[in-house]
Amino acid sequence: MPMLVRKCPKCSKLFWRKEDEVQYVDENTIKVVCNHCQQVLRIPLVTQGANAGAPKMGH
Ligand SMILES: [Zn+2]
Repeated sequence: MPMLVRKCPKCSKLFWRKEDEVQYVDENTIKVVCNHCQQVLRIPLVTQGANAGAPKMGH
């Protein structure tokens, strides 16, 4: 299971979630809770580029 690793815009620390632990707001946006500051974050997914052809989760 791939891990999503993002920099939190609230506390500027890296956090990570398994893909099956995130909620999808829509097909291009996920909602996660930061490991550090416990803020709810909406993270846009990159859908263009090297991963564009990869199967999406949650569909
Ligand atoms: Zn944070």
